[in-house]
Amino acid sequence: MTVLTAMLISMLAMTAIVGLRYLAVSGAFAWLTRRRFPGLYAGLDPQIRREIGWSLASAAIYGFPAGLLAWGWQEHGWTRVYTDVGDYPLWWLPASVLLYLLLHDTWFYWTHRWMHRPRWFRIAHAVHHASRPPTAWAAMSFHPVEALTGAVVIPVLVLTLPIHAGALMVVLLVMTLMGVTNHMGWELFPRRLVEGPAGAWLITASHHQRHHQQYGCNYGPYFRLWDRLCGTDRGLGSFAPRPGGDARSDAARRSGGDGGDRDLGRRAA
Ligand SMILES: [Zn+2]
Ligand SMILES: [Zn+2]
Repeated sequence: MTVLTAMLISMLAMTAIVGLRYLAVSGAFAWLTRRRFPGLYAGLDPQIRREIGWSLASAAIYGFPAGLLAWGWQEHGWTRVYTDVGDYPLWWLPASVLLYLLLHDTWFYWTHRWMHRPRWFRIAHAVHHASRPPTAWAAMSFHPVEALTGAVVIPVLVLTLPIHAGALMVVLLVMTLMGVTNHMGWELFPRRLVEGPAGAWLITASHHQRHHQQYGCNYGPYFRLWDRLCGTDRGLGSFAPRPGGDARSDAARRSGGDGGDRDLGRRAA
């Protein structure tokens, strides 16, 4: 097999893994949503088809560089990914996971704010906000330009910061789970966490929902650190009325969230 064929197979295999992971995780939470809140996604089938289409395109944009690096790692020892736990102190395992998430959070916050500038919003980010309201399938529903800004993060990090292969799996798992659950239209985590001291710093669906309602706020993906530092944190959002259910999330009721889609003109940062 030529080098080029091996690289191509690795890139296609990684695209398939990212795509199947998306279908499995988004599918599982969409199924859970339909069981817990039947009718929450009623009438959204055309939007869901678009979300799945953009997400599978994003899978290729994430999969190609990741597959290239996976090939280089196996064949030439590229990347700082290690498999022997003894290579670095044990404390580095959780520290590396936290550092990777913090660095991704920082990159995401600032590129996300940049994509809310009117010109770049039209070019790169309108696709993501075309989900009104987003569903569990919107996790990777990005225009290719936005997907590219996300696709560079993990490759750059694994080339520069040592991480155990297992810890990297944890990072990817958190990224996937938060991407899906932050968009699924209801709060998965207990009120104790969301409204408690941890929720003041951690982002869950209630926080990102407000970004999709008001646009010019709540840009972060995992931590509220940058939003709070930069004055763009507007607290928790509310959820659409549920058929036969509560019209507003408990979190929103207590934080004074008012729900509903807002004027697109407020999208600029
Ligand atoms: Zn979003
Ligand atoms: Zn946005």
